[in-house]
Amino acid sequence: MGTKQSFDAIIIGCGIAGASLAYFLAERGMTDILILEREEQPGYHATGRAAGVLVELDFVPSILDLKILGGKFLRNPPDGFSEHPLLRQSGILIMFKGQLWDSVRQMVPGLKQTGVVVEELSGEEAMSVIPVVCSKNFDGAFLLSEDGHIDANELLWSYIRNARRRGARLHLKDEVHKIELEQGRVSGVRTIAGEYRSPLVINASGAWAGNIRKLIGQTPVQLTPYRRTIITFAAPEGMETRDWPLAADLSHDLYFSPESSGMLASPMDEDPMEPCDARPDEIVVAQTVERLKQLTPSLAPKSIINKWAGLRTFAPDQAMVVGEDPVVKGFFWLSGQGGSGIETSAAVGQIASDLIVDGHTEIMDARQISPMRFWA
Ligand SMILES: Cc1cc2nc3c(=O)[nH]c(=O)nc-3n(C[C@H](O)[C@H](O)[C@H](O)COP(=O)(O)OP(=O)(O)OC[C@H]3O[C@@H](n4cnc5c(N)ncnc54)[C@H](O)[C@@H]3O)c2cc1C
Repeated sequence: MGTKQSFDAIIIGCGIAGASLAYFLAERGMTDILILEREEQPGYHATGRAAGVLVELDFVPSILDLKILGGKFLRNPPDGFSEHPLLRQSGILIMFKGQLWDSVRQMVPGLKQTGVVVEELSGEEAMSVIPVVCSKNFDGAFLLSEDGHIDANELLWSYIRNARRRGARLHLKDEVHKIELEQGRVSGVRTIAGEYRSPLVINASGAWAGNIRKLIGQTPVQLTPYRRTIITFAAPEGMETRDWPLAADLSHDLYFSPESSGMLASPMDEDPMEPCDARPDEIVVAQTVERLKQLTPSLAPKSIINKWAGLRTFAPDQAMVVGEDPVVKGFFWLSGQGGSGIETSAAVGQIASDLIVDGHTEIMDARQISPMRFWA
């Protein structure tokens, strides 16, 4: 057995969730932290495969609050936090049809009250923003002009760099396979490299979060990973797409956006599966192309440059799962980030660090995201 060491906190997983918590804990003075990551590099799974946008709209109230809070950090990070800007306010255009449009419009006053910059657009107005969309496919649209593309890699590495500067340690290729308990509470973990002791173990293992909790017993928290696919392709010749916002058609399940090699698109697929190194399904890739042909014919790709898939992991009510386990003391959930773990990471990392250091947070009503709701 390798080295045996003690830490104030051990974080399982170095995706955006684990990295952001390490950063905020270190900022709060808890610097004796070990992050354990199974892969050769941080962010290999969901974090490295995200579209990486900030969209301050959501039907789950707690997620919307976290996006708005996370957006504040992305627009205005602390001095010296990152080497490059974290957010390009390239805008988000979201199109809706029928009843969905009628109901979503009712959210506008509430959004505006919280400071979200949102504009209602008619079909023609939306076409003036992105000429390839077809106004017969939707009844209206929202333009979120202060939202847009996040530099997810810069954000991830800035969390890691700043946390390490304060003393946090990161072990790569070090997979946790056992969680040790003493008198019913957490006392450490075992990995292929050795045994590490800590009274606090944080479950930031993304799609594996449900399985990690099963290492210490049955759990009522059902976390399901759902695969989502992205393809990239060249922008049509002669069409200047670089400054377009991301455009999402929520009534026909398609989004597309400019990206470094041209365009990317997703059919917003949600196929449940076991945690794994997700790969794109050829049928889903073909469906993406088909949907582009139908909805934005002039954008339909002749060939695909790249394709990938990642897992978005949700609790049944789609709210996140953040807080100490009600049964196993010292086991802390930082899971269920679903499709918004990047944009919300600063808010969630801050809330989790408050809960760990102070036992409560002033930022939001943390009961909405507490694991306790599954035991109640
Ligand atoms: C296609 C796609 C598009 C998306 N678009 C957006 C978007 O636009 N905006 C947004 O905010 N979010 C988006 N998301 C969601 C976002 O990617 C996730 O919410 C977020 O990355 C989850 O972060 P995480 O740290 O919880 O998980 P992960 O990044 O998966 O990290 C978990 C880590 O835990 C490690 N791990 C697991 N088990 C162990 C173990 N036993 N021992 C050690 N390490 C372990 C894994 O190797 C992994 O690196 C998207 C996701 C996908 C797939």
